[in-house]
Amino acid sequence: MKHEIRILTLLFALLWGLAWSAAGRGGAPAAREDAGELPEAPEPPAAAEEAAHGMPDGETVLRVLHDGAVEEMTMDRYLLGVLRAEMPASFEIEALKAQAVAARTYTLYKMRGGPIANHPDADACDDINCCKAYKSAEDAAAEWGGMALYYEEKLARAVAQTDGQAVLYGGEPILAVFCSSTAGHTQNAGAVWQSDLPYLQSVDSPETEELVPNYYSVASFSPAEFRTLLHQTHPEADLSGAPEGWITNVARSDAGFVTTLDVGGVTLRGNELRTILSLRSPAFTVDAEADGITFHVTGYGHGVGMSQYGANALALEGMNAREILEHYFPGARVGPVAG
Ligand SMILES: [Zn+2]
Repeated sequence: MKHEIRILTLLFALLWGLAWSAAGRGGAPAAREDAGELPEAPEPPAAAEEAAHGMPDGETVLRVLHDGAVEEMTMDRYLLGVLRAEMPASFEIEALKAQAVAARTYTLYKMRGGPIANHPDADACDDINCCKAYKSAEDAAAEWGGMALYYEEKLARAVAQTDGQAVLYGGEPILAVFCSSTAGHTQNAGAVWQSDLPYLQSVDSPETEELVPNYYSVASFSPAEFRTLLHQTHPEADLSGAPEGWITNVARSDAGFVTTLDVGGVTLRGNELRTILSLRSPAFTVDAEADGITFHVTGYGHGVGMSQYGANALALEGMNAREILEHYFPGARVGPVAG
């Protein structure tokens, strides 16, 4: 009898040990699986506790406004549609995982902020000027051709391997914005929008002309074209004299972006002029002459948060998704989302 009890106790201890180690493995954030060459920061003790309360993508249901109709779908399905549209599927898997986490984080941030003014009945839409781009499996397959099955599986893996993971600051999902490419550094949120955020600060970004298509672009406007575009939003701008004198006081950040400039006596943010003129980014130089105004532009996007081409360059250097995200969102950390 004593012997049986001892065996039972041993068996129980063995099973307990197995369950414990399985739970430990399951709780480890997927983004850390393929650690790169950089040393890993030690895991804060709170992480294990949070993992136990993580919110899997399959349990988060969103209302998505796509092609004019509101569709209910789980977070993993939504993120797959965002990945198809937002990042080249040929990118490194760690860059795609970083993109999946950034898009999940951004969406959760918006959902927790209450109804969205543009579409109070939907949590997200497919308009890039409002939310994130979204592409159906059929549309993506038509573009990918023979690579469709491979890419679809790869993107699904990027979502599944980061299930429930988000970029957190003070335990909450952050405003995880991203852009296509920068001029070598990202820029502070305050230089583009109204307010600054501690985790949206300028960091270096390694993308180069060799890695990014159309890294340098040129946009030219005749004086009449420039005047028409500017007066649509700023009719008070005085563009009556010679074009050489229209643009003054160009202020630039250390990151190479135009922060503010005066156009016809009106002070604009660099990003605002970028939007008005549909320039590819606010990292530009300007040549104003009698017969026209020419902008030489570097990179693509507002330059804040994670650079997608920069993320791919870092993945090629061996960084994993967590390291990439914690580089682009300084002070924030990747962890499971609390339900
Ligand atoms: Zn929207």
